Amino acid sequence: MKRIISAVILISLLLCGCVQASTPTDAVAAIDPRVRTYYEIFVASFYDSDGDGVGDLKGIEEKLDYLNDKNLNSNGSLHVTGLWLMPIMPSPTYHKYDVTDYYSVDEEYGSLADFESLCAACRERGVSVIIDLVLNHTSSEHEWFKSACSSIRAGECENDGDDCAFSTPCAKHNDYVGYYNFSNVNQGGYTAVSGTNGGWYYESRFWSGMPDLNLDNPSVRAEIEKIVEFWLEKGADGFRLDAVTSYYTGSNEGNTEFLAWLTDTAKGIKRDAYLVAETWTDSSTILSLYESGVDSCFNFPFSQNDGSIISAVNTQSGSALAKSIERWNAALSFENPDAIDAPFLTNHDNGRSAGALKRDLALEKQAAAVYLLMPGNPFIYYGEEIGMTGSGKDENKRASFTWSLSDDTGLTLSPKDADRVETVSAGVAEQLADKNSLLRFYIEVIRVRNSLPAVVFGEVAALDTDFDTVCAYTSSYGESTVAVVHNLGDEAVEIPSTFEGYSLYAGLSCGEGKPRLSKENLYLPPNSTAVLEKR
Ligand code: CA
Repeated sequence: MKRIISAVILISLLLCGCVQASTPTDAVAAIDPRVRTYYEIFVASFYDSDGDGVGDLKGIEEKLDYLNDKNLNSNGSLHVTGLWLMPIMPSPTYHKYDVTDYYSVDEEYGSLADFESLCAACRERGVSVIIDLVLNHTSSEHEWFKSACSSIRAGECENDGDDCAFSTPCAKHNDYVGYYNFSNVNQGGYTAVSGTNGGWYYESRFWSGMPDLNLDNPSVRAEIEKIVEFWLEKGADGFRLDAVTSYYTGSNEGNTEFLAWLTDTAKGIKRDAYLVAETWTDSSTILSLYESGVDSCFNFPFSQNDGSIISAVNTQSGSALAKSIERWNAALSFENPDAIDAPFLTNHDNGRSAGALKRDLALEKQAAAVYLLMPGNPFIYYGEEIGMTGSGKDENKRASFTWSLSDDTGLTLSPKDADRVETVSAGVAEQLADKNSLLRFYIEVIRVRNSLPAVVFGEVAALDTDFDTVCAYTSSYGESTVAVVHNLGDEAVEIPSTFEGYSLYAGLSCGEGKPRLSKENLYLPPNSTAVLEKR
């Protein structure tokens, strides 16, 4: 309902000339500012502005024209409308998922001033910025943890059972002991506190360098509120929440409660702050986490190399995919009518999709068309749009972005422990110049997406076309209805009569030939997508 009222206000403003006739991108964001086409950036591997080999925040600002040049008709810009920056806070690791200071920018990436500058420049282009927020754990180098361990090591407190057991600091301990989950009992997921002769252990589900925070501690929650407020004030539009299924390991109820508190806290500070949760889990758990009121949970079951999208593209199973999208869309709306799906192909923890799609350009384009045209907020992992590959060690999946094969300006080094980095056959510069490239296809699909609110906000109904290879569904929003039709098959199809009353809005060719709509049928060549608008 909120969205419909906003749309009415927008249309009224446009009619009275109170705002400039906005671009279609603005129209989507004006209906609901949380709804975006996102681009995930591993800052170290994106663009290096100062020649030290490490990508940085200034580098992203320098390349904003590539991300969104504000000219929707240009073929030189992706026109994404949101950025997700992987962790930018100080950290001893290359990936920075273990924070030592929640109120600063890692100096490798720049300064707080650089962050504020980037956010301001993005805002000027209608691009939102969300940052990774790692709250399950800190770095073992964080002052809180070091202070807690010192307090325990001070030896004032004997290992005397009830007094000091299970994260309840005794009177002799400092407050930071209660920030973490210490125990006198060694158990799975715990690490011995060094210097305590095995008498003390701390929860560390990921590894010893990442002690889990005690999220039940009111002092920790107060710190988190301060952290959230700090970054929203610096210009962030929201957060990607790391590892939410580990907040309370094994307790979905605990995770949902904390997520609800965090959502309320963030929106209490900034009403339209956007939160997207890393819910690396199954469908039913994801749906239950939506009960928290969080805006988005990453759609892991559809994504990743063995998820519904890439599997359907590889096995040409279109009609089954359409039914899955319909079911998922309905289930989300049931849990929370304001929920925004967050599909992606792969992220920094997955092997790159190009590998799973056999480095077949037609399949890569087809998979892109499927996820970018699903309702919600699609997340493009940097490099996906140019067909970067990378699998095995995490470092390989986070390799240097290829701007050009012939010009190394801004080129970063890949993570130093990467053991296999393959070069793409064409970088950004080459692909922008080639109208058949994967990058130009991304640009084309994003343009369609940004132009049709019914695609983005729609309520999905699968259509039966009698072709197993065809994924067809309608997506309706307000008065408008579109039909999205993908032919995942390697043979052309002619679909009779189903689309009477529609006109062809976009015919996207992933391989050879273009979709055509006639009075008699909708013709779809092998691997192609048609977006139709109901007249
Ligand atoms: Ca640099």
